[in-house]
Amino acid sequence: MPIYEYELADGGSCKICKGKFELRRPVDRPALTHCPLCRKPVRKVVSQVNTPKVTKPLSVSDAKKAGFTIFEKRDVGVYEKL
Ligand SMILES: [Zn+2]
Repeated sequence: MPIYEYELADGGSCKICKGKFELRRPVDRPALTHCPLCRKPVRKVVSQVNTPKVTKPLSVSDAKKAGFTIFEKRDVGVYEKL
């Protein structure tokens, strides 16, 4: 689960979150718009450290190692199990 860094949109600070905080959130959740503590509007801080990028494309062997069964399309409606 990635860690997102948020700061108050108006650049201010609050006694609860100090104007900046980090939050662990599932990637499929929508971006946070308000501080869960003080309810002020927040924006996501784009940080190199906290946004690791997956640069290596997944290969068939990687998927197999992960337990996937790979099918390759040979023809219309014809799949070969690799
Ligand atoms: Zn706050």
